[in-house]
Amino acid sequence: MCIFCKILKGEIPNKTILEDENFLAFEDINPQAKIHILIIPKIHIDSFDVMAPKIMGEMTSFIQKVASIVDVKNDGYRLITNIGNNGGQEVKHIHFHLLGGEKLGTIL
Ligand code: AMP
Repeated sequence: MCIFCKILKGEIPNKTILEDENFLAFEDINPQAKIHILIIPKIHIDSFDVMAPKIMGEMTSFIQKVASIVDVKNDGYRLITNIGNNGGQEVKHIHFHLLGGEKLGTIL
């Protein structure tokens, strides 16, 4: 079982920001910005590459709620999803990184 499925089962603790029946948002254990939240679906999906558009649509609304809760909507934030080995994806359960709380460095 992947590490995020273990978090969802309660076998590994997490600092939850928001949860509903389909998604969980929690603090990244190794933050790369003042605010660094991970957002995952509760069903195991390997990556964005195989995610159904319907779930992506529902996840969009959930991520927007998370952005409100952590108060980054006015100043802006960054969303990242790494895909596969070349994308640098370490955990093979789709997740979005929400980064903010400060001016972020340019990566593109
Ligand atoms: P990625 O490289 O895109 O797969 O990102 C995986 C992320 O999961 C990294 O930012 C890790 O710091 C984070 N991470 C790994 N284990 C945990 C955990 N138990 N709780 C919170 N974040 C975690």
